[in-house]
Amino acid sequence: MFRNVKGMADLLPSETEKWQQVERRLERILHSFAYRQIRTPLVEPHELFTHAVGEHTDIVQKEMYTFTDQGDQNLCLRPEATASVLRAYFQHRLDQEAGLQRLYYMGPMYRRERPQKGRLRQFHQLGAEAIGSEDPYIDAEMISILLLIAKSFSLPDLVLEINTLGDAETRKVYRSELQTYLLKHSKAFSEAELTRVHQNPLRVLDSKNPALQDIILEAPMITQALNSKSAKHFDQVQEALQALEVEYVVNPKLVRGLDYYCHTAFELKAEGLGAQSTVGAGGRYDGLGEKFGQGQTPAIGFAMGLERLMLLLEQSWTYAPPRPRIDFFALEEEQKPSVLRLANRLREDQSLITSIRLEVGVLWEAQSVKSALRLAHKQGSRFVVLLGPEEEKKGHITLKDLQKSEQWMIPADQLVQRIKEKI
Ligand code: ATP
Ligand code: MG
Repeated sequence: MFRNVKGMADLLPSETEKWQQVERRLERILHSFAYRQIRTPLVEPHELFTHAVGEHTDIVQKEMYTFTDQGDQNLCLRPEATASVLRAYFQHRLDQEAGLQRLYYMGPMYRRERPQKGRLRQFHQLGAEAIGSEDPYIDAEMISILLLIAKSFSLPDLVLEINTLGDAETRKVYRSELQTYLLKHSKAFSEAELTRVHQNPLRVLDSKNPALQDIILEAPMITQALNSKSAKHFDQVQEALQALEVEYVVNPKLVRGLDYYCHTAFELKAEGLGAQSTVGAGGRYDGLGEKFGQGQTPAIGFAMGLERLMLLLEQSWTYAPPRPRIDFFALEEEQKPSVLRLANRLREDQSLITSIRLEVGVLWEAQSVKSALRLAHKQGSRFVVLLGPEEEKKGHITLKDLQKSEQWMIPADQLVQRIKEKI
């Protein structure tokens, strides 16, 4: 027996029906903000991420699925999509188009982490990127997309945390100030943590190690180290959030795991998720364009974990009932061609298929009327159409409404009309 790869889940039909409902709603929300979908490959050059996400991040150091293909190319499964979107943005010269690019994506990401509730090795993200503006109001808009999603699904017990990572100048000054402080406490750090202090001291603020919490609590805060440009940006973001009546908490220890962030960073956390509490997170990445060898390209984005969203929805969301289903059944071999034709006539009716979303099946397997009805009941069919020799002779069919326990013998060409009246 083969089994799925650990941490990479199969989604069976009863699950995918829920996913599809959620995905459709998410897309509608993104469209309402004038975002358009971009689809980039799941496989990218390995270097794209070492370069963009950063050599000293967990993703690049520990979590990437990397391989060499038969042509000796160094490739990987994408661990996130911001770098891919920005690659495509420059490669296809979207920077030459008028105005701001508002892009979203939805799809699987790959990270080799320890699988647990809300943490997989293949997981799915919805993400949005607004590329080409440094306006703090875009930061607030980005955050409000995340919140509108939360509102639309009635997600309970959420906290929005925001912070600023300042501009490059601020971070440079703050980084060394923080490093000096942390090194004074170097005895408390393990060897790995000490390496982090040297390579990426801001990430230490993110540490869950209980022994470090007091040190982190007393550490200098970036919100106190902002230069005037950075402070102004952060003030304006907060003004815009207040105008949008968004409730938030400033968490000066929120640093995010990727190297490319600057200015605004944010996380949406949910009580109901235990240790994997962050549903969605993002931030500004004005410096990433330059890392790609392009001009200054202000941009901001977020990514939301769909598995975590689905977990929250288990507690707060009622899914739409399954679509009504009609099953056709030939009483004898001779009626099979007619049944096939009739079923297709229904499928061709656009209003039945697209607005009512009727599903049309044919039950060849049943041996008798009784067993056909039993099977139809079991799979939750709403209607059954029976065609036997008697009906066929008259050009009629028998239509049964299983929900209402009613039954009619009607001319076959009245079927579409009758179904429309009954649903
Ligand atoms: P975490 O701190 O939980 O590892 P992260 O900071 O690595 O999250 P991001 O890279 O910001 O996560 O990704 C955005 C969102 O994607 C997360 O908030 C989370 O909802 C989801 N996510 C990240 N990694 C995983 C994973 N391995 N399994 C499921 N969802 C994930
Ligand atoms: Mg992570």
